[in-house]
Amino acid sequence: MDSHVHTEWSWDAPREASMVRSCEQAVAAGLPGVAFTDHLDFTIWTDGDQIGAMDLDPHRYSRMHLLDSTGYLATLDDCRQRFPGLRILSGVEIGEAHLWAASAAATVAKAGPGGLDRILGSLHAIPHEGRLTAADELFRQMAAANVMRRYFAELLRLVEGSNLFQVLAHLDFPRRMWPRTAGPYQERTFEPEYRAVLSALAASDRVLEVNTKGPLVSADLLRWWRDAGGRAVSFGSDAHQPWRVGDKFKLAVDVVEAAGFRPGRDRFDFWRL
Ligand SMILES: [Zn+2]
Ligand SMILES: [Zn+2]
Repeated sequence: MDSHVHTEWSWDAPREASMVRSCEQAVAAGLPGVAFTDHLDFTIWTDGDQIGAMDLDPHRYSRMHLLDSTGYLATLDDCRQRFPGLRILSGVEIGEAHLWAASAAATVAKAGPGGLDRILGSLHAIPHEGRLTAADELFRQMAAANVMRRYFAELLRLVEGSNLFQVLAHLDFPRRMWPRTAGPYQERTFEPEYRAVLSALAASDRVLEVNTKGPLVSADLLRWWRDAGGRAVSFGSDAHQPWRVGDKFKLAVDVVEAAGFRPGRDRFDFWRL
């Protein structure tokens, strides 16, 4: 199943994004299920959020706004009624959950037990010069390899500093914006950094996402995940438009299989060793 899909309820989704259309696409693509993991990004901190103590400006984009949980859940209910043959999971993609621990925990608690089926953890921006700075901005400010090293260092703080999420999304997110002038991106340049993050994730018995929006991770990287003790992999298209639901999954399955992972207990489960 596709465990990472955005809809009209994500602040960065274009007008064409539609949960209903995404369900239609999932059915057409033969997917057994889909998780709607709209962005949960905070811009105003509360007591207990580390970002407040760090005095960082969190506003990267003026259009950022908080997820409307009520509207999101109403649309989700409607889709479950319209598409009874499709397993539709609720979820969120929490940005920088370690910096927003109190806010994020309160949102998850409000959903109640079993309220959110899939919680993805993501790092899209890192603290830099008094601001929570987006990865594309950092590439304009420093050498490309430095961006990745800083990213992985903060990603390790995310994994070690938050247990709210079950799946780590797009673990090398800035790679999508890696500048051509820096030459081809090589995972092995950052092997120690990858391995440190993967070890922390495996130690807390969580799941690594294979994200098909940007460049795919390699089978070698998934072997590092195995070496670290990782046991499960999730597939996510990170679609922000319906046509991308399940995109490039055949290729992703080949890579995951090459690293030794197999389908889990049923068609809705993660892939496992
Ligand atoms: Zn993301
Ligand atoms: Zn996403």
